[in-house]
Amino acid sequence: MSANRLEAIYNALPVVLQNLLVSIKGFQLQKVRKSGNYSSYRRIISERSHWSQQQFLDYQLEQLQAVVGYARDNTTHFYRLCDELGLNYAFINSLDDIRRLPVLRRHEITQNHNDFIAHSVSEKQRYAVHTTGTTGSPLKVTCDSDARQKNYAFFDQYLDSIGIDSDSRHIIIGGRILMPPDSNKPPFWRYSVFQKSLLMSSYHLSDQYIAFYVEKIADFKPTYIESYPSSIYRIAQFMNERDICVPCKAIITSAETLLREQRSAIEHAFSCPIFDQYGCAEMSVFSAQCKKGAYHVRPDYGLLEILDDNDEPLPRGEKGNVVCTSFINRAMPLIRYNLGDISAFGPHCDCGLNTPTLIGIEGRKDDVIYTADRKAVGRLSPVLKGLPVVAVQYIQNQVGFLQVLIEPACEFGEKSLSDIDVSLRSRIGEKMQVEYKIVDTIPRGRGGKLKSVISTIGKPNLSP
Ligand SMILES: [Zn+2]
Repeated sequence: MSANRLEAIYNALPVVLQNLLVSIKGFQLQKVRKSGNYSSYRRIISERSHWSQQQFLDYQLEQLQAVVGYARDNTTHFYRLCDELGLNYAFINSLDDIRRLPVLRRHEITQNHNDFIAHSVSEKQRYAVHTTGTTGSPLKVTCDSDARQKNYAFFDQYLDSIGIDSDSRHIIIGGRILMPPDSNKPPFWRYSVFQKSLLMSSYHLSDQYIAFYVEKIADFKPTYIESYPSSIYRIAQFMNERDICVPCKAIITSAETLLREQRSAIEHAFSCPIFDQYGCAEMSVFSAQCKKGAYHVRPDYGLLEILDDNDEPLPRGEKGNVVCTSFINRAMPLIRYNLGDISAFGPHCDCGLNTPTLIGIEGRKDDVIYTADRKAVGRLSPVLKGLPVVAVQYIQNQVGFLQVLIEPACEFGEKSLSDIDVSLRSRIGEKMQVEYKIVDTIPRGRGGKLKSVISTIGKPNLSP
């Protein structure tokens, strides 16, 4: 059964049954994420948090040697690459030796996806994860349950480090489709009972509905809230204007650049600190703010490089492309993968965690389009999940009208455009006028990066 058909059936069910289905799905996810070696990974990650800088560097070299050897022996891409470069021996003797391999761009993976999957991981063990980055190019990443367990062990251990119990009641405000976009009465949320998680739709956060969200958040009393900065900021603004405060222990933001105005408004509304996290579906980087506000990079999650546009390393403080090598995903080992984000290494933080820091992430400012009733819709990247396109760009020059440029992948067929339309409409509704244009290439910007949204109409009153 197609995903669209399943979605139609789900949408037709009463809320109580939708809650049940969301809970069952949550239970299944929890089982995958927290079984296997999850507990021991979490303990080990916690122990490593006390390591010295040298211990991390030694560990990284060991991991890099293992990952490069493994990728060469188990994937078509790296086997061919090492063969062409004459690297058919253990050539990693220091971390700098990684530079003997070229930097990998997203389109190289989308065009030859199967060449990156490890033969050693059987089809039964593989999971597909679709990236929802803001670069406008979808990427299907394959992982296995071990990678997911490690990933969640890192996240949950991070919550521990900032004093949050990951099993406590929480709210996630995100881009999951929980109800039809044109739905005009609450609840705009569903409850996953086993995860103690209230999932709120970020697509229904228009002025007329925010009061319902605030009332529900106050009633639910979450220990912490995970959200895109732009979503929780809208709620916080509404609360601050009415002098409403709902105290929480922490707000965890991710996936967009967190602006200064957003931080102070959100911290005020929820009377707690914000911890901003930077990770990616490619499972190549894990960085998050410590209690002192520094963005620490976990060196045991992957190796992070900051490179200029000629792929040369940049010194601390100079901004460049974020390029990562994953240590945790053996199903699809990505080595020197350019994530399309911009950052720089920051100063040492004296909080006790001896890892490199970043100055924060640029280039992920959430791009927003406006529907006919001026409802802001961000996070459009999930529209492309699983669809045969190389890249998409949304261009908006007037409210209520959107032009969509599509660079098709080779499997793009007659039905693809209607699938894209259905997926897009599930976020922007039926009233928006949309014009699709199939093009050979969408012009790229800096560092080959594609800007996913180009908008010439007014944005909310924010500055970075
Ligand atoms: Zn710190």
